[in-house]
Amino acid sequence: MPLSPPPALGKSALPAGTFDGQVVAVTGGGTGLGKGIALEFARLGASIAILSRKPEHLSAGVEAMEAVGAKAIAVACDVRDPEAIARAFDEIEARLGPVDVLINNAAGNFPAPAEEMSPNGFRTVVDIVLNGTFNCSREFALRRLAAGKGGSILNIGATYSWTGGPGTSHSAAAKAGVTNLTQRLAVEWAPDDIRVNCLAPGRFPHKDLPTHMTQHRVGEVRELGWAATFLCSPYASYISGHTLVVDGANWLRRSLVMPEFVPIREQFGRKAREEGTATDAISKTRGDK
Ligand code: NAP
Repeated sequence: MPLSPPPALGKSALPAGTFDGQVVAVTGGGTGLGKGIALEFARLGASIAILSRKPEHLSAGVEAMEAVGAKAIAVACDVRDPEAIARAFDEIEARLGPVDVLINNAAGNFPAPAEEMSPNGFRTVVDIVLNGTFNCSREFALRRLAAGKGGSILNIGATYSWTGGPGTSHSAAAKAGVTNLTQRLAVEWAPDDIRVNCLAPGRFPHKDLPTHMTQHRVGEVRELGWAATFLCSPYASYISGHTLVVDGANWLRRSLVMPEFVPIREQFGRKAREEGTATDAISKTRGDK
């Protein structure tokens, strides 16, 4: 029997008003899972700051929060740029008040065979996912420490960071870093009452994704939102450094008999590599004449 569907959109897992008076900053909160997570905080009374780069994402995020009656602002910011992050936190403080909860959700990803990833493409994904998470967490902690106040950070990992599933070397490596950073920062900042946790989503299709992979049961975005609000709420006050997997046990479906392996080139509809073509590929990525 498959896992049952979740309660309807709009139901809350926590008491009404759990985040009344709190400011929640969500990077990448204008699309997909970030928007879904932000919405659950908004429904529970939080004021929301959406941080990302593109105006259309920022306005979509603010519109969605206002539609459930929350106060929300858009703050243009690239998480790779520490100075821009500092300015973004200044702006949030001036318009909403200090950030109480930080959700590090922004990410970049473009599935490709590893040998076809340029060093620049690899660096860009690591820069957004891992360095961006550190940059925002550091800015958040500096301000909470200076104010003598605790807080909560939620990072977004991915179950594929624990497997060898092909096609996302850059993102998987960066997410593995995020999982470790969650533990490190949780330990370092526990004496200051700053909790740091991580959610590892399985497959959560949503309309902002360009394509959907079909699976038996995939996650509904609200299921991630409920987990996020719980981990950042006072009801999780003794949970820190934890990575919570939300994937219906999907990533654990491995046994002595593995699912049939499909080479990455086949998954991407590329021809199987013939003898000598690897050398051609190397020349091409290096730009040899
Ligand atoms: P998405 O729709 O592609 O959203 C990514 C968001 O990150 C966008 O709002 C984007 O906004 C923002 N962003 C990208 N680069 C940025 C930068 N340099 N600075 C600031 N913001 C930036 O992704 P999603 O599917 O909702 O995924 C959300 C999170 O869940 C990610 O961390 C992802 O790795 C993780 N995840 C998702 C799934 C899934 O099935 N969907 C599975 C596992 C893990 P701008 O373009 O406006 O900057």
